[in-house]
Amino acid sequence: MDRTGMPQSSKAQSRPIRRVIGARILASKYDPSKLFDIAIGDRHIVDVSFHDPKSVPSTLPIDILDARGCLITPSLCHPHVHLDKAFLMSDPKFADLKLERGDFAEAMELGRKAKERFSHEDLTRRGRWLVAESVSSGVTYMRAFAEVDESVGFKCLEAAIELKAEFAQYCEIQICLFAQEPVMSGPRGRQNLELFLKAMEYPEVEVIGTTPYVEEESFIHTNIKYAINLGKAFKKHVDLHLDYNLDQAQAPRIGDVIREIRFSSWRPVDECVVAGHCTRYSLFSQEQWENLARSIRNNELPISFIGLPTSDLFIQGRPPDASGGGERARATLQIPQMIQQYGLEGAISINNVGNAFTPHGSCDPLQLASWGIGLYQAGTTTDIECLFECVSSRAKKAIGIKGSGGIEVGAKADMVIYGSPNGNDRVPLSRQRPRLGLQDLVCDPPNIRDRRVIFNGCLVEL
Ligand SMILES: [Zn+2]
Repeated sequence: MDRTGMPQSSKAQSRPIRRVIGARILASKYDPSKLFDIAIGDRHIVDVSFHDPKSVPSTLPIDILDARGCLITPSLCHPHVHLDKAFLMSDPKFADLKLERGDFAEAMELGRKAKERFSHEDLTRRGRWLVAESVSSGVTYMRAFAEVDESVGFKCLEAAIELKAEFAQYCEIQICLFAQEPVMSGPRGRQNLELFLKAMEYPEVEVIGTTPYVEEESFIHTNIKYAINLGKAFKKHVDLHLDYNLDQAQAPRIGDVIREIRFSSWRPVDECVVAGHCTRYSLFSQEQWENLARSIRNNELPISFIGLPTSDLFIQGRPPDASGGGERARATLQIPQMIQQYGLEGAISINNVGNAFTPHGSCDPLQLASWGIGLYQAGTTTDIECLFECVSSRAKKAIGIKGSGGIEVGAKADMVIYGSPNGNDRVPLSRQRPRLGLQDLVCDPPNIRDRRVIFNGCLVEL
């Protein structure tokens, strides 16, 4: 590390790649038993052809990447991650803020205490850890939430803008201006809203994010309406933390979102609307699911759902009284079923990492997809394909990233290569087992040291 706290190696230029040779591509149109060469030009895939071992020179030029025998996939994506609250538990500056009860109220309380101490230095330090570890895992796109309110002012946003520029050659960081606190009600609502609107003037803000459920009951709808109208007026994506409860008595608010988009006559062309958490819908009947899917499809609304299972399951499930009986209700959006059975758009994300909202887990989306096999009881070949898409192509689509979907001619050259070429005898035995299929890759993701990441046609060397 140098004096800025930036890992030294991240200052190296990414290396442009002209051709990836001998890779195993996992897509239905490619024979999984064959190896392929992928040609790259102007940041895009320009050709995919059968690999000819005889055409490989004994010494490879620096712009040809040896992937002989290795699995290659499209790159990964965090569609929802809190950049400013990452790794509070790893940073000595916040060491005194320990979990004692481990519940949502305490997480909010510790989050507020931490925010009062946030400085540009620790925000960028912790943010760098998050981005660097994510990119090393294969993430080349992320939607990063940056909070703006009375306690932090523009500190989180300005740190996010700095990190976006600093890591531009490795990863596209899409900044979501985020109101975690009330902006329509409560003693600080008015001041929070004024700051939020002022922050909209930063050109780097691409997404408007709010948390309707933190408002007083009678202002939840106002929050949703305001966010949708801002999205329409400023042509921005909208991202709502919504319906984070398991209470049959609380009316789900997704209907408000649909109605507000329709009543505002917003016809988004490039913008998307996302609803995250939404655990309340786990109480839906099949009929309610079908009605929801129909109203989104029939009105051609660009609404996606992001499941945040690690946070959902940690925050919920507390027994209703101190005796701690067996009653531990918890749930998370059943994303694979929403996609497969109801034709909805969805993805999954890590949300938080290393803080009181989600103490556990890493920055690796593949690890999250792997946990999804057990969480969603989704272990068939089709399910596993779906889980991979939920941290790759579906995640990118949900946040409005275009052209970075698959390994095919015309797609952006954003890819991850797993393992070492021509067998793994140069790495320790504990890392030699190959991953030759998607099942193997998702069921037990390889070490991030055994992944090579290509973004915009360049090899990431962090
Ligand atoms: Zn979140």
